[in-house]
Amino acid sequence: MFYKSTRNSSIKVQSAEAITQGISEDGGLFVPESIPSLTLDEVEKIAGMSYSERAAYVFGKFLTDFTEAEIRYCTDNAYSTKNFETESIAELAELFDGTYMLELWHGPTCAFKDMALQILPYFLTTSAKKINLDKKIVILVATSGDTGKAALEGFKDVPGTQILVFYPEDGVSPMQKRQMTTQLGSNVGVCAVKGNFDDCQNGVKAIFTDKEIKEKMNNAGLMFSSANSINWGRLVPQIVYYISSYATLAKNGDIKLGDKINVVVPTGNFGNILAAYYAKKMGLPVNKLICASNINKVLTDFIQTGVYDRNRDFYATCSPSMDILISSNLERLLYIITGQDDAQIKEWFGALAKEGRYEVSDEVKKVLSEEFYGGFCDDAQTKATIGEIYKKYSYTCDTHTAVAVKVYNDYKKETGDDTKTIIASTASPYKFSASVLEAIEGKTSDMDEYDMVNKLSELSDIPVPEALANLKDRERRFSDSIEKSEMNSYVLKDFGLE
Ligand SMILES: *Cc1c(COP(=O)(O)O)cnc(C)c1O
Repeated sequence: MFYKSTRNSSIKVQSAEAITQGISEDGGLFVPESIPSLTLDEVEKIAGMSYSERAAYVFGKFLTDFTEAEIRYCTDNAYSTKNFETESIAELAELFDGTYMLELWHGPTCAFKDMALQILPYFLTTSAKKINLDKKIVILVATSGDTGKAALEGFKDVPGTQILVFYPEDGVSPMQKRQMTTQLGSNVGVCAVKGNFDDCQNGVKAIFTDKEIKEKMNNAGLMFSSANSINWGRLVPQIVYYISSYATLAKNGDIKLGDKINVVVPTGNFGNILAAYYAKKMGLPVNKLICASNINKVLTDFIQTGVYDRNRDFYATCSPSMDILISSNLERLLYIITGQDDAQIKEWFGALAKEGRYEVSDEVKKVLSEEFYGGFCDDAQTKATIGEIYKKYSYTCDTHTAVAVKVYNDYKKETGDDTKTIIASTASPYKFSASVLEAIEGKTSDMDEYDMVNKLSELSDIPVPEALANLKDRERRFSDSIEKSEMNSYVLKDFGLE
């Protein structure tokens, strides 16, 4: 299996190369040249396996340049109870009749990013070995909160790697800040930037493409790679849990093998829902893919009209991991839907970079509206939904997941579709205690984040994740705070390149 660049189909590499490079040198994203198939017999077969074995089975179809032993090394290390609080790794909880929460947040940082970032370091170091890369891999991350912490936990003390995370000083929740600044590990670094997430992201992009830094890195035996969802190594692990949860539902008799299900995903960068689309294209019986956005609803508009337009106000919401106006992974979807029309993709994404807007053809619009349903809700509706679920089902969910539940309710009302449904639950409610408490109690609280966690644990059936409880007594290790203009020199100093 080869991987092609979405902007130049003649660039072809194997998965080890795609994973170490992160992004293609022409700016395109790596995409498998064809989508491998999955039969119902295979789904039945994997239902009898552990999560690690299920993952290995799926990876065998995509990472064809990896040996079976290499894949098992990666999955066994990543998907064990060493790292995850539940044996099943991805937990399924029935919310109400035929509607299941796919809890993807039982990993070390309590957000679904762990599902991919626990295994990415193993993919990356194995890939580097396979292509005889003799450089140390440096992971540079700009984060709005969840990715940074999940990447730090994944890469901490991994030999042959080093990681540095930039976060906006006032742009993350208190819990997220504490999670990052107390990070353990000998190869990790964390630095606050006086600016917003875009400043961090632009700074990191500029460092990636800085010729002088690149040369110095090269001379010092270092190379950059990416832990963002533009890296195929982050996307492929997300395909697994859709297949795995379907297999579990069939095994438990909740559905019959072959029955279609809907999948609802609270969406930002379009990575998680794209993984569900891949699962469907492989052959998993999926009916509708429901794409839920917060008030930054660029994707809802796109699915409904075929016009992608980022020229609009940006809102900071109570579901911050979905506050995004450029959903990178849409590029992969459009590459598939257009039949790998690289020239067309280059044109659209060139227009997005230049004018902030592009419009797809009528054919593509038709496919989009057949496969996807797009909806959104605002913060008031998000909080009302958390309160409603809590009262009706005694279930506590976080702000991102609540957006998905609300949009799913709207979808059901609009269509009357009663197909059984999986809702991706992307973060532990304890990570966003302030908003969740406010939603349940109907008033804001002036407690500190730990008192809020304790209060929430009195109200909720969900135990406080150990990973968050442990932070309270952890020493703060990182307190650097810099201007956005100082990011370059900070990197040079941090990696000893001056
Ligand atoms: C990253 C994130 C999302 C958005 O996922 P995408 O793959 O970027 O669409 C949703 N919820 C939470 C909690 C996240 O951390």
